[in-house]
Amino acid sequence: SMTVGQMVFAISCCAWAYALTGPLRGGIFNLVMVAMMFGMFALPIRKVLFVGGWAVLSMGLAMAWLLFTHNPHVTATVEAGHLLMLTLMMPAVAVLAERLRQMRRRLHEQKRDLAAALDRIQYLATRDALTGLMNRGHLGELLEREVQRHRRCGTRMSVVLLDIDHFKLVNDRYGHGCGDLVLRRFAEEARRIVRGCDALGRWGGEEFLLLMPETALESACVGAERLRQMLEGLLIESGGETLQVTLSAGVAQIDGAESIEMLVERADRALYAAKAQGRNRVRCTAAA
Ligand code: GH3
Ligand code: MG
Ligand code: MG
Repeated sequence: SMTVGQMVFAISCCAWAYALTGPLRGGIFNLVMVAMMFGMFALPIRKVLFVGGWAVLSMGLAMAWLLFTHNPHVTATVEAGHLLMLTLMMPAVAVLAERLRQMRRRLHEQKRDLAAALDRIQYLATRDALTGLMNRGHLGELLEREVQRHRRCGTRMSVVLLDIDHFKLVNDRYGHGCGDLVLRRFAEEARRIVRGCDALGRWGGEEFLLLMPETALESACVGAERLRQMLEGLLIESGGETLQVTLSAGVAQIDGAESIEMLVERADRALYAAKAQGRNRVRCTAAA
């Protein structure tokens, strides 16, 4: 922003004005201070001292010129007093400028830290700690928004409820840590294949919910089937053993003025049917 250049130019103009103004020239010192203040919040002390030095030099030159031209209003004593006043003021301005600069830097750092903390809080408030997927609360908000969009614009929307099969057996046989690993590995791989516009989150325990905006039942079933096949083919290494787990899924497309609870309830019933029919399968539910 050429702050130093602008200040030097303004101070040079002040010196020129000082030489032209006559008996009221003492008022020009106020303008010199305004020019100093213009940049003192942003400049380092070195540059403030440079500009202050330039102020003393240029004003001194203007005073010398006034004395040299034998101006009737000018006496050497008054000019020497003016110059002394200006010279004493400059170090004070420089110290003040440095203090303000440090304060601004601290404020800037605090603002940056606060923004980072806010990001972190937002992340923690919307994520599931184990899998890093969205948590149930955040999924609920997204569901609410999509349901509103469906009601207002008639956009289609489907949900898939996924549940890992015989997960209790995994915990019992291989330990809780291994169960956690299965959940994390599923989340990791699922995140890779879920479309960017869909939202996958942990609904609770070993249950996940996939929200698919602007998606009809048939396409949602294809998405759910892709996840099922992914987990079926996933080999999970844990403590020297290789595990293979499967999942069952229930799919439902929102219908009319259906509430979120009713929609999820239908997906849950389809999931229950998938479990009842032998697990490791996707079941879709027709509209209520
Ligand atoms: P189904 O095929 O009918 O779904 O049987 P399941 O064993 O998967 O279902 P069930 O509801 O009987 O058991 C779910 C188990 O998931 C019980 C619970 O201890 C376990 N579980 C829930 N949350 C976690 C978790 O965060 N970590 C681990 N390791 N286990 C969990
Ligand atoms: Mg289960
Ligand atoms: Mg379950």
